[in-house]
Amino acid sequence: MQEVAYVCPKCGKIGLLTEKPDEYEVWLKCPSCDFLMGMSTEDWHRIENSPGTDQKIKELAEGHS
Ligand SMILES: [Zn+2]
Repeated sequence: MQEVAYVCPKCGKIGLLTEKPDEYEVWLKCPSCDFLMGMSTEDWHRIENSPGTDQKIKELAEGHS
């Protein structure tokens, strides 16, 4: 899989990390602030394989807060 750097919806810095704690879940974590958002692997694949991934992450993050 290619490495893509996503933008943190909270602090705006590039370099959001993806962690897979298990096969059903993906966590998005920011190394620069305390942003953390989890979602299902299925949802994440849908987001990461569609255009405007950064925007979708942002919308989800806003919906979660
Ligand atoms: Zn951040």
